[in-house]
Amino acid sequence: MKQFNRLRNDFPILQQMINQHPLCYLDNASTTQKPQQVLDAIMHFYCTSNANIYRGAHTFAEQATTLYEQARQKVAQFIGAQDPTEVIFTRGTTESINFVAGTWAAEYIKAGDEIVVTELEHHSNLLPWQRIARQKGARLKFIPVLPDGTLNFSVLDTLFTKKTKLVAVTQVSDALGTHNAIDKIIDYARAVGAKVLIDAAQSVPHQAINVDTLDCDFLAFSAHKMLGPTGIGVLYIKKELHDIISPYTEGGGMVFEADWQKAEWLPSPQKFEAGTPPIAQAIGLGAAIDYLTKNVDFTKLQTYEAQLSTRLIDGLSAMPQVKILGPVEELKKGHLVSFMVDGVHAHDGVAYCDSKGISLRAGHHCAQPLAKKLGYHSSLRASFYFYNTIQEVDKLIDAVAELSHHFK
Ligand code: PMP
Repeated sequence: MKQFNRLRNDFPILQQMINQHPLCYLDNASTTQKPQQVLDAIMHFYCTSNANIYRGAHTFAEQATTLYEQARQKVAQFIGAQDPTEVIFTRGTTESINFVAGTWAAEYIKAGDEIVVTELEHHSNLLPWQRIARQKGARLKFIPVLPDGTLNFSVLDTLFTKKTKLVAVTQVSDALGTHNAIDKIIDYARAVGAKVLIDAAQSVPHQAINVDTLDCDFLAFSAHKMLGPTGIGVLYIKKELHDIISPYTEGGGMVFEADWQKAEWLPSPQKFEAGTPPIAQAIGLGAAIDYLTKNVDFTKLQTYEAQLSTRLIDGLSAMPQVKILGPVEELKKGHLVSFMVDGVHAHDGVAYCDSKGISLRAGHHCAQPLAKKLGYHSSLRASFYFYNTIQEVDKLIDAVAELSHHFK
Protein backbone atom coordinates (compact mmCIF):
# COMPACT_ATOMS: atom_id res chain seq x y z
CA MET A 1 0.00 0.00 0.00
CA LYS A 2 1.49 3.24 -1.19
CA GLN A 3 0.14 5.18 1.76
CA PHE A 4 2.16 3.05 4.19
CA ASN A 5 5.29 2.90 2.04
CA ARG A 6 5.36 6.71 2.02
CA LEU A 7 5.69 6.65 5.81
CA ARG A 8 9.09 4.95 5.53
CA ASN A 9 10.58 8.40 5.00
CA ASP A 10 9.66 9.28 8.58
CA PHE A 11 12.07 6.65 9.90
CA PRO A 12 15.70 7.81 9.73
CA ILE A 13 17.08 4.36 10.61
CA LEU A 14 15.36 2.74 7.63
CA GLN A 15 17.45 4.86 5.27
CA GLN A 16 20.61 3.03 6.39
CA MET A 17 22.67 0.43 4.61
CA ILE A 18 23.56 -2.77 6.48
CA ASN A 19 26.43 -4.83 5.08
CA GLN A 20 26.20 -2.88 1.81
CA HIS A 21 22.48 -3.61 1.51
CA PRO A 22 19.54 -1.32 2.27
CA LEU A 23 18.27 -2.19 5.74
CA CYS A 24 15.40 -4.65 5.55
CA TYR A 25 14.12 -4.60 9.11
CA LEU A 26 11.90 -7.60 9.83
CA ASP A 27 12.23 -7.87 13.60
CA ASN A 28 9.29 -5.71 14.61
CA ALA A 29 7.86 -8.19 17.11
CA SER A 30 11.03 -7.57 19.15
CA THR A 31 10.93 -3.83 18.80
CA THR A 32 9.79 -1.39 16.15
CA GLN A 33 11.75 1.52 14.72
CA LYS A 34 10.95 5.09 15.75
CA PRO A 35 9.70 7.86 13.47
CA GLN A 36 11.31 11.31 13.49
CA GLN A 37 8.17 12.69 15.18
CA VAL A 38 8.75 10.51 18.26
CA LEU A 39 12.47 11.32 18.35
CA ASP A 40 11.64 15.03 18.02
CA ALA A 41 9.08 14.92 20.84
CA ILE A 42 11.65 13.43 23.23
CA MET A 43 14.38 15.85 22.13
CA HIS A 44 11.99 18.79 22.30
CA PHE A 45 10.98 17.92 25.85
CA TYR A 46 14.61 17.79 27.01
CA CYS A 47 15.42 21.02 25.16
CA THR A 48 12.42 23.04 26.31
CA SER A 49 10.56 21.68 29.36
CA ASN A 50 12.71 19.16 31.23
CA ALA A 51 11.87 19.01 34.93
CA ASN A 52 10.71 16.50 37.47
CA ILE A 53 6.93 16.24 37.61
CA TYR A 54 4.37 16.96 40.35
CA ARG A 55 6.84 18.13 42.99
CA GLY A 56 7.70 21.59 41.74
CA ALA A 57 5.58 24.65 41.17
CA HIS A 58 8.01 26.28 38.75
CA THR A 59 7.12 26.74 35.10
CA PHE A 60 9.04 23.75 33.77
CA ALA A 61 7.70 21.45 36.47
CA GLU A 62 4.18 22.41 35.47
CA GLN A 63 4.89 22.00 31.77
CA ALA A 64 6.50 18.60 32.32
CA THR A 65 3.58 17.45 34.49
CA THR A 66 1.06 18.58 31.87
CA LEU A 67 2.92 16.77 29.08
CA TYR A 68 3.23 13.60 31.18
CA GLU A 69 -0.46 13.60 32.04
CA GLN A 70 -1.41 14.36 28.44
CA ALA A 71 0.49 11.21 27.47
CA ARG A 72 -1.59 9.23 29.97
CA GLN A 73 -4.78 10.64 28.46
CA LYS A 74 -3.63 9.66 24.97
CA VAL A 75 -2.98 6.09 26.13
CA ALA A 76 -6.36 5.93 27.87
CA GLN A 77 -8.14 7.06 24.72
CA PHE A 78 -6.09 4.71 22.54
CA ILE A 79 -7.10 1.61 24.52
CA GLY A 80 -10.64 2.75 25.35
CA ALA A 81 -10.08 3.15 29.09
CA GLN A 82 -12.92 4.98 30.84
CA ASP A 83 -10.58 7.06 32.94
CA PRO A 84 -6.89 8.07 32.59
CA THR A 85 -6.28 6.96 36.20
CA GLU A 86 -6.68 3.40 34.92
CA VAL A 87 -3.43 3.82 32.95
CA ILE A 88 -0.28 3.15 34.97
CA PHE A 89 3.12 3.74 33.44
CA THR A 90 5.61 0.93 34.01
CA ARG A 91 8.91 -0.07 32.38
CA GLY A 92 7.17 -2.41 29.94
CA THR A 93 5.01 -5.51 29.59
CA THR A 94 7.33 -7.54 31.81
CA GLU A 95 7.13 -5.07 34.66
CA SER A 96 3.37 -4.64 34.20
CA ILE A 97 2.80 -8.37 34.66
CA ASN A 98 5.22 -8.56 37.59
CA PHE A 99 3.32 -5.63 39.08
CA VAL A 100 0.07 -7.61 39.11
CA ALA A 101 1.86 -10.69 40.46
CA GLY A 102 3.57 -8.65 43.18
CA THR A 103 0.45 -6.78 44.27
CA TRP A 104 -3.01 -8.19 43.53
CA ALA A 105 -1.86 -11.82 43.21
CA ALA A 106 0.52 -11.66 46.19
CA GLU A 107 -2.34 -10.42 48.32
CA TYR A 108 -5.36 -12.33 47.02
CA ILE A 109 -4.12 -15.68 45.65
CA LYS A 110 -4.32 -18.28 48.42
CA ALA A 111 -3.24 -21.91 48.86
CA GLY A 112 -5.29 -24.19 46.64
CA ASP A 113 -6.31 -21.40 44.24
CA GLU A 114 -5.75 -21.87 40.53
CA ILE A 115 -4.12 -19.59 37.95
CA VAL A 116 -4.81 -20.34 34.29
CA VAL A 117 -2.38 -19.39 31.53
CA THR A 118 -1.84 -20.85 28.05
CA GLU A 119 1.02 -22.93 26.72
CA LEU A 120 1.72 -20.07 24.28
CA GLU A 121 2.89 -17.59 26.90
CA HIS A 122 6.04 -15.51 26.72
CA HIS A 123 8.26 -16.13 29.77
CA SER A 124 7.10 -12.71 31.03
CA ASN A 125 3.60 -14.08 31.46
CA LEU A 126 4.73 -17.42 32.85
CA LEU A 127 7.56 -16.98 35.35
CA PRO A 128 5.74 -14.47 37.62
CA TRP A 129 2.84 -16.94 37.94
CA GLN A 130 5.20 -19.84 38.60
CA ARG A 131 6.58 -17.79 41.50
CA ILE A 132 3.14 -16.94 42.88
CA ALA A 133 2.05 -20.59 42.59
CA ARG A 134 5.23 -21.70 44.40
CA GLN A 135 4.97 -19.10 47.15
CA LYS A 136 1.26 -19.50 47.78
CA GLY A 137 0.76 -23.20 47.23
CA ALA A 138 -1.51 -22.33 44.31
CA ARG A 139 -1.79 -24.36 41.12
CA LEU A 140 -0.69 -23.16 37.69
CA LYS A 141 -2.87 -24.67 34.95
CA PHE A 142 -2.48 -24.44 31.20
CA ILE A 143 -4.82 -24.17 28.24
CA PRO A 144 -2.94 -26.65 26.05
CA VAL A 145 -1.60 -25.91 22.62
CA LEU A 146 -2.39 -28.26 19.74
CA PRO A 147 0.33 -29.40 17.31
CA ASP A 148 -0.83 -26.71 14.83
CA GLY A 149 -0.09 -23.97 17.38
CA THR A 150 -3.70 -23.13 18.25
CA LEU A 151 -5.24 -23.52 21.69
CA ASN A 152 -7.30 -26.55 22.58
CA PHE A 153 -10.53 -24.94 23.73
CA SER A 154 -12.27 -28.28 24.23
CA VAL A 155 -10.74 -28.51 27.72
CA LEU A 156 -12.07 -25.17 28.93
CA ASP A 157 -15.21 -26.62 30.51
CA THR A 158 -13.14 -28.71 32.92
CA LEU A 159 -10.07 -26.45 33.19
CA PHE A 160 -11.96 -23.56 34.74
CA THR A 161 -13.26 -24.28 38.21
CA LYS A 162 -14.50 -22.36 41.21
CA LYS A 163 -10.86 -22.32 42.37
CA THR A 164 -9.72 -20.34 39.31
CA LYS A 165 -8.80 -16.89 40.60
CA LEU A 166 -6.83 -15.49 37.67
CA VAL A 167 -6.57 -16.04 33.94
CA ALA A 168 -3.46 -14.51 32.36
CA VAL A 169 -3.33 -14.92 28.58
CA THR A 170 -1.54 -13.48 25.60
CA GLN A 171 -3.71 -12.04 22.86
CA VAL A 172 -1.17 -12.81 20.13
CA SER A 173 1.71 -15.26 20.58
CA ASP A 174 5.12 -13.76 19.82
CA ALA A 175 6.60 -17.20 19.14
CA LEU A 176 4.08 -18.54 16.61
CA GLY A 177 1.83 -15.61 15.77
CA THR A 178 -1.34 -17.40 16.93
CA HIS A 179 -4.23 -15.02 17.62
CA ASN A 180 -6.12 -16.28 20.65
CA ALA A 181 -9.88 -15.91 20.99
CA ILE A 182 -9.49 -14.06 24.27
CA ASP A 183 -13.13 -12.98 24.40
CA LYS A 184 -14.07 -16.64 24.75
CA ILE A 185 -11.45 -17.15 27.49
CA ILE A 186 -12.72 -14.03 29.27
CA ASP A 187 -16.28 -15.43 29.19
CA TYR A 188 -15.06 -18.59 30.94
CA ALA A 189 -13.12 -16.52 33.47
CA ARG A 190 -16.15 -14.38 34.23
CA ALA A 191 -18.36 -17.44 34.66
CA VAL A 192 -16.15 -18.61 37.58
CA GLY A 193 -15.48 -15.10 38.93
CA ALA A 194 -11.77 -15.04 38.02
CA LYS A 195 -9.78 -11.89 37.29
CA VAL A 196 -8.40 -11.46 33.75
CA LEU A 197 -4.98 -10.22 32.66
CA ILE A 198 -4.23 -9.76 28.95
CA ASP A 199 -0.67 -9.70 27.64
CA ALA A 200 -1.23 -7.30 24.74
CA ALA A 201 2.44 -6.78 23.81
CA GLN A 202 1.87 -8.18 20.30
CA SER A 203 -1.68 -6.93 19.80
CA VAL A 204 -1.89 -3.26 20.83
CA PRO A 205 0.59 -2.18 18.08
CA HIS A 206 -1.40 -3.95 15.35
CA GLN A 207 -5.11 -3.87 16.12
CA ALA A 208 -7.67 -1.66 17.79
CA ILE A 209 -8.08 -2.64 21.44
CA ASN A 210 -10.87 -1.54 23.75
CA VAL A 211 -10.37 -2.57 27.37
CA ASP A 212 -13.93 -1.66 28.18
CA THR A 213 -15.45 -3.91 25.53
CA LEU A 214 -12.99 -6.67 26.34
CA ASP A 215 -13.91 -6.39 30.01
CA CYS A 216 -10.45 -7.32 31.29
CA ASP A 217 -9.10 -6.37 34.73
CA PHE A 218 -5.49 -5.85 33.67
CA LEU A 219 -3.86 -5.28 30.28
CA ALA A 220 -0.11 -4.98 29.69
CA PHE A 221 1.92 -3.68 26.75
CA SER A 222 5.22 -2.01 25.83
CA ALA A 223 5.75 1.31 24.06
CA HIS A 224 8.82 0.15 22.16
CA LYS A 225 6.82 -2.33 20.07
CA MET A 226 4.54 0.48 18.81
CA LEU A 227 7.01 3.18 17.68
CA GLY A 228 7.68 4.50 21.20
CA PRO A 229 10.88 4.48 23.23
CA THR A 230 12.20 1.66 25.42
CA GLY A 231 11.88 1.94 29.20
CA ILE A 232 8.15 2.56 29.25
CA GLY A 233 5.06 0.42 29.11
CA VAL A 234 1.52 0.40 30.36
CA LEU A 235 -0.49 -1.48 32.90
CA TYR A 236 -4.21 -0.88 32.59
CA ILE A 237 -5.93 -1.56 35.92
CA LYS A 238 -9.72 -1.49 36.02
CA LYS A 239 -10.87 1.33 38.28
CA GLU A 240 -12.90 -0.81 40.66
CA LEU A 241 -9.68 -2.58 41.72
CA HIS A 242 -7.68 0.55 42.55
CA ASP A 243 -8.62 0.61 46.22
CA ILE A 244 -7.96 -3.04 46.93
CA ILE A 245 -4.52 -3.15 45.28
CA SER A 246 -1.48 -2.05 47.29
CA PRO A 247 1.33 -0.06 45.69
CA TYR A 248 3.96 -2.10 43.83
CA THR A 249 6.77 0.21 44.91
CA GLU A 250 6.71 2.87 47.59
CA GLY A 251 8.57 6.15 47.93
CA GLY A 252 8.35 9.71 46.69
CA GLY A 253 5.56 11.15 44.61
CA MET A 254 2.80 8.89 45.92
CA VAL A 255 2.32 10.06 49.49
CA PHE A 256 -0.74 11.84 50.81
CA GLU A 257 0.54 11.98 54.39
CA ALA A 258 3.57 10.27 55.95
CA ASP A 259 4.46 9.64 59.59
CA TRP A 260 7.39 7.74 61.12
CA GLN A 261 5.52 4.46 61.29
CA LYS A 262 2.99 4.67 58.48
CA ALA A 263 1.91 6.59 55.42
CA GLU A 264 -1.23 7.21 53.42
CA TRP A 265 -1.09 7.19 49.68
CA LEU A 266 -2.51 9.40 46.99
CA PRO A 267 -5.09 7.75 44.69
CA SER A 268 -4.19 6.13 41.35
CA PRO A 269 -2.14 6.81 39.29
CA GLN A 270 0.30 8.33 41.84
CA LYS A 271 -0.35 5.44 44.23
CA PHE A 272 1.11 3.06 41.65
CA GLU A 273 3.98 5.20 40.31
CA ALA A 274 6.40 5.85 43.18
CA GLY A 275 9.62 7.67 42.35
CA THR A 276 10.50 9.70 39.29
CA PRO A 277 8.73 8.04 36.37
CA PRO A 278 10.05 7.80 32.80
CA ILE A 279 8.81 11.27 31.86
CA ALA A 280 10.47 11.77 28.48
CA GLN A 281 9.58 8.19 27.55
CA ALA A 282 5.91 8.77 28.39
CA ILE A 283 5.96 11.86 26.18
CA GLY A 284 7.59 9.73 23.46
CA LEU A 285 4.82 7.15 23.83
CA GLY A 286 2.25 9.94 23.54
CA ALA A 287 3.93 11.05 20.31
CA ALA A 288 3.89 7.47 19.02
CA ILE A 289 0.15 7.28 19.67
CA ASP A 290 -0.33 10.63 17.89
CA TYR A 291 1.63 9.24 14.94
CA LEU A 292 -0.39 6.01 14.79
CA THR A 293 -3.70 7.84 15.18
CA LYS A 294 -2.86 10.25 12.38
CA ASN A 295 -1.25 7.86 9.93
CA VAL A 296 -2.26 4.28 10.57
CA ASP A 297 -5.80 3.02 10.23
CA PHE A 298 -5.75 -0.35 11.99
CA THR A 299 -8.15 -2.03 9.56
CA LYS A 300 -5.93 -1.01 6.64
CA LEU A 301 -2.83 -2.01 8.62
CA GLN A 302 -4.20 -5.51 9.17
CA THR A 303 -5.06 -5.84 5.48
CA TYR A 304 -1.54 -4.73 4.58
CA GLU A 305 0.22 -6.96 7.10
CA ALA A 306 -1.90 -9.84 5.80
CA GLN A 307 -0.61 -9.13 2.27
CA LEU A 308 2.99 -9.22 3.53
CA SER A 309 2.47 -12.41 5.57
CA THR A 310 0.58 -14.15 2.76
CA ARG A 311 3.37 -13.33 0.31
CA LEU A 312 5.99 -14.70 2.71
CA ILE A 313 4.01 -17.83 3.59
CA ASP A 314 3.26 -18.58 -0.06
CA GLY A 315 6.96 -18.11 -0.91
CA LEU A 316 8.18 -20.28 1.95
CA SER A 317 5.52 -22.96 1.39
CA ALA A 318 6.92 -23.54 -2.09
CA MET A 319 10.24 -24.65 -0.53
CA PRO A 320 10.19 -28.27 0.68
CA GLN A 321 13.12 -27.59 3.04
CA VAL A 322 11.11 -24.97 4.99
CA LYS A 323 8.67 -25.75 7.78
CA ILE A 324 6.39 -22.96 8.96
CA LEU A 325 5.36 -23.19 12.60
CA GLY A 326 1.85 -22.48 13.81
CA PRO A 327 -1.55 -22.33 12.08
CA VAL A 328 -0.33 -21.46 8.59
CA GLU A 329 -3.63 -20.28 7.08
CA GLU A 330 -4.42 -18.14 10.12
CA LEU A 331 -0.92 -16.69 10.12
CA LYS A 332 -1.65 -15.20 6.71
CA LYS A 333 -3.76 -12.65 8.58
CA GLY A 334 -1.10 -11.74 11.13
CA HIS A 335 2.16 -9.84 11.41
CA LEU A 336 4.68 -12.57 12.16
CA VAL A 337 5.88 -15.85 10.71
CA SER A 338 8.13 -18.40 12.46
CA PHE A 339 9.87 -21.04 10.40
CA MET A 340 12.72 -23.52 10.24
CA VAL A 341 14.96 -24.45 7.35
CA ASP A 342 16.08 -28.06 7.10
CA GLY A 343 19.79 -28.47 7.91
CA VAL A 344 20.26 -24.81 8.83
CA HIS A 345 20.57 -23.68 12.43
CA ALA A 346 18.30 -20.70 13.06
CA HIS A 347 21.21 -18.59 14.29
CA ASP A 348 23.18 -19.32 11.11
CA GLY A 349 20.08 -18.39 9.14
CA VAL A 350 19.85 -15.03 10.91
CA ALA A 351 23.57 -14.36 10.34
CA TYR A 352 23.23 -15.14 6.63
CA CYS A 353 20.17 -12.92 6.27
CA ASP A 354 21.99 -10.16 8.14
CA SER A 355 24.80 -10.34 5.60
CA LYS A 356 22.10 -9.43 3.05
CA GLY A 357 20.84 -6.53 5.17
CA ILE A 358 17.82 -8.47 6.49
CA SER A 359 17.16 -8.32 10.26
CA LEU A 360 15.38 -11.40 11.61
CA ARG A 361 15.26 -13.06 15.01
CA ALA A 362 16.25 -16.61 15.96
CA GLY A 363 15.58 -18.60 19.10
CA HIS A 364 12.70 -19.86 21.18
CA HIS A 365 11.40 -16.27 21.40
CA CYS A 366 11.11 -16.42 25.21
CA ALA A 367 8.66 -19.30 25.00
CA GLN A 368 10.94 -22.25 25.70
CA PRO A 369 8.39 -24.69 27.17
CA LEU A 370 6.30 -24.18 24.01
CA ALA A 371 9.31 -24.92 21.79
CA LYS A 372 10.00 -28.09 23.80
CA LYS A 373 6.37 -29.22 23.52
CA LEU A 374 6.19 -28.65 19.78
CA GLY A 375 9.60 -30.29 19.33
CA TYR A 376 11.81 -27.52 18.02
CA HIS A 377 14.80 -25.83 19.56
CA SER A 378 14.81 -22.54 17.78
CA SER A 379 13.10 -20.95 14.82
CA LEU A 380 13.64 -18.01 12.51
CA ARG A 381 11.06 -15.27 12.91
CA ALA A 382 10.11 -12.49 10.51
CA SER A 383 7.74 -9.85 11.80
CA PHE A 384 6.24 -6.89 9.99
CA TYR A 385 5.03 -3.37 10.54
CA PHE A 386 3.48 -0.86 8.16
CA TYR A 387 6.81 0.43 6.86
CA ASN A 388 7.81 -2.95 5.43
CA THR A 389 7.33 -3.58 1.73
CA ILE A 390 6.49 -6.48 -0.58
CA GLN A 391 9.98 -6.03 -2.08
CA GLU A 392 11.48 -6.68 1.36
CA VAL A 393 9.42 -9.87 1.68
CA ASP A 394 10.69 -11.02 -1.71
CA LYS A 395 14.23 -10.28 -0.62
CA LEU A 396 13.72 -12.49 2.41
CA ILE A 397 12.21 -15.29 0.31
CA ASP A 398 15.27 -15.18 -1.98
CA ALA A 399 17.65 -15.25 1.01
CA VAL A 400 15.84 -18.23 2.56
CA ALA A 401 15.98 -20.06 -0.78
CA GLU A 402 19.75 -19.55 -0.78
CA LEU A 403 20.20 -20.80 2.80
CA SER A 404 20.17 -24.53 2.10
CA HIS A 405 22.82 -24.20 -0.65
CA HIS A 406 24.93 -21.88 1.46
CA PHE A 407 25.06 -24.26 4.44
CA LYS A 408 25.30 -27.50 2.43
N1 PMP B 1 4.80 -10.68 26.02
C1 PMP B 1 4.90 -10.81 24.69
C2 PMP B 1 3.82 -11.54 23.95
C3 PMP B 1 6.00 -10.27 24.03
O1 PMP B 1 6.09 -10.39 22.70
C4 PMP B 1 6.99 -9.58 24.76
C5 PMP B 1 8.21 -9.01 24.07
N2 PMP B 1 8.82 -9.88 23.17
C6 PMP B 1 6.83 -9.46 26.14
C7 PMP B 1 5.72 -10.02 26.74
C8 PMP B 1 7.82 -8.73 26.98
O2 PMP B 1 7.88 -7.39 26.62
P1 PMP B 1 8.99 -6.42 27.21
O3 PMP B 1 10.31 -7.11 26.98
O4 PMP B 1 8.85 -5.16 26.43
O5 PMP B 1 8.71 -6.24 28.67
